[in-house]
Amino acid sequence: MKRKIFQSMLFLALLILGLSLCAAYYVPTTWGWRVWSLLGLLLGAVTLSFLLAGKITRSLIRSLADARLEDLETQTLYEELRPLAGRMLDQNRQIQKQLKKQNTELKREYEKQDRMRRDFTANVSHELKTPLTSISGYAEIIRDGLVKQEDIGRFAGKIYSETQRMIDLVADILKLSQLDEGYQMRMERVSINVYTSCQRVIARLQSTAEQSGMRFMLSGMEGRILGVEKIVEEIIYNLCDNAIKYNRPQGEIFVSISEVGEKILLKVRDTGIGISKEEQARVFERFYRVEKSHSKEIGGTGLGLSIVKHGALYHDARIEMSSVLGEGTEICVLFHKEASAS
Ligand code: ADP
Repeated sequence: MKRKIFQSMLFLALLILGLSLCAAYYVPTTWGWRVWSLLGLLLGAVTLSFLLAGKITRSLIRSLADARLEDLETQTLYEELRPLAGRMLDQNRQIQKQLKKQNTELKREYEKQDRMRRDFTANVSHELKTPLTSISGYAEIIRDGLVKQEDIGRFAGKIYSETQRMIDLVADILKLSQLDEGYQMRMERVSINVYTSCQRVIARLQSTAEQSGMRFMLSGMEGRILGVEKIVEEIIYNLCDNAIKYNRPQGEIFVSISEVGEKILLKVRDTGIGISKEEQARVFERFYRVEKSHSKEIGGTGLGLSIVKHGALYHDARIEMSSVLGEGTEICVLFHKEASAS
């Protein structure tokens, strides 16, 4: 509507202008006509400029208003977005902090693993070198004829026991490396009756225990867990084997299985030499032995409890130890019950 009025006014103004120009050009120029055509021209020009000025001003005002509106919208949007941007910046800072922390932890863990690996290699080399040096020494003096005929049997026995020590050591190292691999490979877990596993392990160790006049006492109930049978039996074996090795002659070994809430509790208790408080924290370290010469006599590798620790870790099980010097040691492994294991 407004547009139509504007168009008609524009047409009128142009008509007046046109007529005034024609009048000024064709009609005989008397002073009267000149004045009228001048007035017509003026009127047309004023109307035209008024119309155009109005139009230009309106569009100017409109674009100014639009720009202002846009400014206002931008301002409102900015006000709305500012806290959001602040929060995002905070989050970003927190994420960066966390990443930095994780990075440091990973680096520390890597350095720890690297140190452990290097220590392990050094220990393995040392542990293998000791029996090998003995074997080589005994063999050399036999070869050179420096051993009396009647002593040859004794020397051969020493070579045999050193060789046996090496075999045990290599077997334990292999078990530990299999456990390490197991972490990566995720061995298949099956339902295991821990009580039956204990029966099997005790049957294997029965004659060794009997040679020292020791007795195994197994009690408890069927306790089912989800796990790797070979590793679970390895845990039980090492605990029972230690309970024999570090027991007193005619000592007793109590093995029990019980259910404690959502856990299956395996307990191995002996009546042996015990472990001091200070040593208790260290006996699970690889190659750590409370008394090296004593352990050598007994025939340990220093890896048994390490295998127990890693086997328990593999099953997300917890280990608890209590021991009194001269009275005995009790080691508990708390497995997740089959139904509650993930
Ligand atoms: P080892 O092969 O020497 O027995 P372990 O890792 O099994 O190695 O045990 C580490 C050390 O902890 C042993 O050398 C021993 O001194 C001590 N230890 C382990 N079990 C017992 C126990 N039941 N009673 C007393 N001492 C023990």
